[in-house]
Amino acid sequence: MECGGCGARVKNNGEECSSCGCYVTTSFFGRRLDKYYWVKAVMDTVDYLNRQEPAILLNLHKKSKRVLIDLSGVKFIDSMGIGELVALSDRQGYMNQDIRFVVDNESVYRSLESLGLLHVLDVHKSVEEVLGVWDIGK
Ligand SMILES: [Zn+2]
Repeated sequence: MECGGCGARVKNNGEECSSCGCYVTTSFFGRRLDKYYWVKAVMDTVDYLNRQEPAILLNLHKKSKRVLIDLSGVKFIDSMGIGELVALSDRQGYMNQDIRFVVDNESVYRSLESLGLLHVLDVHKSVEEVLGVWDIGK
């Protein structure tokens, strides 16, 4: 499979990419940055097939206090995927992490809104917005 961070070949799901150091799953990659852990979707759909991948990536790097789940470019999230976002958000309590989501697609944003989840999930419209809230640069 291909590393979403740099395009290099990675053998297994959840493995660390030897060229860029990202953790790689089929539909996401996780990159340890200075001040936060960036988990980025590389496919435009989050559904029952790949919904557990962000949790896999978070479990590989539990020490980050700040986690950005970047769903920029994601155009569709099915109900199981949405359930998983809520489960990820729950980690804030028991893992003591600050977990923010970036959703830039209008229809995904509206479906979260219609389910009342904008009160449950910490959703932002861009990575820059989250970094501003955290008061950190890139
Ligand atoms: Zn890589």
